[in-house]
Amino acid sequence: MDCIFCRIAEKRLPAKIVYEDDSVVAFEDINPQAPVHVLVIPRKHIPTSLDLEEEDNVLVGRLFQAANRIARQKGIADRGFRIVTNCNKDAGQTVFHIHIHLMGGRPMGWPPG
Ligand code: AMP
Ligand code: ZN
Repeated sequence: MDCIFCRIAEKRLPAKIVYEDDSVVAFEDINPQAPVHVLVIPRKHIPTSLDLEEEDNVLVGRLFQAANRIARQKGIADRGFRIVTNCNKDAGQTVFHIHIHLMGGRPMGWPPG
């Protein structure tokens, strides 16, 4: 299996890492869609949100805690931000290692495209 996000988490592929701990890594999206666009991933390879298991429940909380920390650090917490996880084709998922998009720094439209 050759997964680009596993490679980033293992530092075998360069990325602008903004946060990391034992279970989570966060880095700047290479093609940002907002002034702040960070991807938050687990070190564990989980392809999509449909693959989450009971044993991943704490890990999912850690992804959100990391996103909150980065949002505060980048100064977008009070204004607000969007958290998105795309799942499979209709949502436009292109990298099959689960990730949270943390986007902010501009007003977000709704409904999303
Ligand atoms: P998704 O479409 O939800 O699967 O999102 C994948 C995201 O990964 C896109 O926003 C891409 O711009 C981003 N991406 C792909 N390759 C890299 C990379 N090497 N470093 C940082 N971000 C990446
Ligand atoms: Zn992976």
